[in-house]
Amino acid sequence: MTLSIDEARRVVLGTVAPLAGEDIPLDRAAQRVLAEDVVATGDVPPFTNSAMDGFAVHPAPAGTVLRVTGESRAGAPSPVSLGAGEAIAVATGAMVPEGATAVVPIERVEVGEGEVRLAADIAEGANIRGPGEDVRAGQTVLHRGTRLGAAEVGVAAGAGRATLRCTRVPAVAIVVTGDELRAPGSPLGPGQIHESNGLTLAALAAATGAVVQRTDPVPDRRDATHEALRAALEHADVVLASGGVSVGPHDHVKGALGALGVRERFWRVALRPGKPTWFGTRTEPADGGAGAGGGAAAGCARLVFGLPGNPVSAMVTFLLFARPALLALQGADPTARRVRATLKEPIAALPDRAQAVRVRLEETATGRTATPTGPQGSHQLRSMVGAQGLAIVPAAEEELPAGASVTVELV
Ligand code: AMP
Ligand code: MG
Repeated sequence: MTLSIDEARRVVLGTVAPLAGEDIPLDRAAQRVLAEDVVATGDVPPFTNSAMDGFAVHPAPAGTVLRVTGESRAGAPSPVSLGAGEAIAVATGAMVPEGATAVVPIERVEVGEGEVRLAADIAEGANIRGPGEDVRAGQTVLHRGTRLGAAEVGVAAGAGRATLRCTRVPAVAIVVTGDELRAPGSPLGPGQIHESNGLTLAALAAATGAVVQRTDPVPDRRDATHEALRAALEHADVVLASGGVSVGPHDHVKGALGALGVRERFWRVALRPGKPTWFGTRTEPADGGAGAGGGAAAGCARLVFGLPGNPVSAMVTFLLFARPALLALQGADPTARRVRATLKEPIAALPDRAQAVRVRLEETATGRTATPTGPQGSHQLRSMVGAQGLAIVPAAEEELPAGASVTVELV
């Protein structure tokens, strides 16, 4: 049965559970997905401190002269507390000495021998940062499912953590099939082309946070296809096969996957480009012994995508179906970001399939527009260059005119 894009995506996501968590040191946690909520163990900042280099004082009017009795430096608080008629030198981030309730910046005093004269009035609480102004002890500062970026890693450090529980990174194996495929840079014989799906799919998978393994192109022979997929299934959580998935006499991918115990979940999506897309799963026995070397854990399902060989189809079907799976495996939100946009050019009717039109987006005075990137054939990979999104155009009997509103999934 041919599924719609949404149905196919639901089938994929229905098979996915997040991978196990592992503790990752903060300096390696950026780009990983959090598998726990993070609760601050203490206040941030932990103590009352100065926002400026200057002098800790009691509020006083301009002209007041104060005796300087000590210094509080960052990491080295003043041993003496502040008395009446006194000031204590204080650095940014240094603890405000006991008794002081304001900090006068160095630019606002005249510094004399052992004393300072206030050049302006100074108000209660000026330039003082209280404990917990950023984060309170016990507060949840980061939530499970968050992709960790620079700020998140910094906040975790402030919250008292040295490691974070993150979902394991999915292992992806890419198997490209085709007798015609030659390595990039190789001279081409008659009927040969340069292999590109291995590269595009690897880059797309890596961008989701996965670790990727690729092999040389696999010839269109049953035994070679079987062996390549068998090896891929041994270590990978997700296998991306490209090409050879159709029903021609030299298409061996589906047959090999069936023989390897991968159960078909769907075959064909009502989509252009990307109709001949196959998806299946294999549940590993709990004592399967696989998973050595950081690969898939026993007891988990392996996901297998048989993606069409046409270069645009391979990328589009990855984005629509494999990408959500790789995000969900990490415990991240698999939902594509969507925007509405106004078509700049008409889209020809396609009665039986939705279209994923590669578009560039532009913000104009009258709203956001989407312009197709150029010729949209499934072999015209240049249509992906500079594409900011896939305009999802539903199947229709009539042309979608310029000016129509479309949903665009950002890529
Ligand atoms: P297939 O799905 O194997 O029938 O291939 C469909 C089209 O995609 C053919 O024109 C292939 O030459 C092309 N193709 C298949 N695999 C790749 C690849 N890895 N890189 C670039 N083009 C490919
Ligand atoms: Mg082929």
